[in-house]
Amino acid sequence: MLPYLRPLCMMLCGFSGRMHRRPQNGGFCGTVVGMKGYLITLLVLLLALAGISLYSRFYGDGSLFPGLPHATAAAVETAASVPSTSAAPEPTPSATPDDAQFSDTDSLLLCANKKHKLPDGYVPSDLTNVTVNGTVTSYTLRREAAEAMTKMFAGAAQDGVQLVLTSAYRSYEYQYQLYNDYVAQYGSATADTISSRPGYSDHQTGLAADITSSTYSALNQGFAQDSGGIWLAAHAHEYGFIMRYPQGKQDITGYAFEPWHFRYIGVDNASALYAAGDNETFEEYYSVEGGDYAS
Ligand SMILES: [Zn+2]
Repeated sequence: MLPYLRPLCMMLCGFSGRMHRRPQNGGFCGTVVGMKGYLITLLVLLLALAGISLYSRFYGDGSLFPGLPHATAAAVETAASVPSTSAAPEPTPSATPDDAQFSDTDSLLLCANKKHKLPDGYVPSDLTNVTVNGTVTSYTLRREAAEAMTKMFAGAAQDGVQLVLTSAYRSYEYQYQLYNDYVAQYGSATADTISSRPGYSDHQTGLAADITSSTYSALNQGFAQDSGGIWLAAHAHEYGFIMRYPQGKQDITGYAFEPWHFRYIGVDNASALYAAGDNETFEEYYSVEGGDYAS
């Protein structure tokens, strides 16, 4: 056997070679066979450790078993996505939702009219710049409404109608300025017929927009006969928008006919309201108080 194995044997075993039984085959100590196995095991362990180290470095996440945390995370995600059997059932859609929805700023049915003032200082939390016809505009809406607006403009374009966005979210401060400019110019009685008081504007919900077209740019009732106005009246509900101030409903909505002003309430709500026909208004469909200011 190799001579250097003796001191190694002594060092590892803590015994001198003399203490071992001299084997019959002339080997230098009785632990040689055991030592060979021990060294081979040691070598295998060292190789295994080196291999794990390399593997760990290769995957770069510093863990001995890099696959394990990912698998665990995936398992947690899967478990979380499985609906609990004890979860409450989905509420049944209703044409007359409870009143809380009309003052809930998270609800798509948040109501702003001359009888329903928005909460003081209300600013939607998810205002997003609206992209229409491939262009990011400076107009903002709540994210869901903005995405629906993009789809609606694309749908109109497919039908050969070029819609134009002319107003969307308006802040309390902007509305304050706008309204008071009208008051200064025409007096408050007239100002109330053409502009909302600050805090009462549908535009402050971040869910309303004024839309014209490439063939009719004025915000007046003539837009109802324009191809853009006709297309919107027929298709806006398919994208979740309703004509907020239909013709002949001023006593109910508080506003004269505005064929350019559309309000997002979601596709299901808008389609149901549209299906009611007869220029159905938000106030009528949801039994919400409307009309003129209380004072
Ligand atoms: Zn408007």
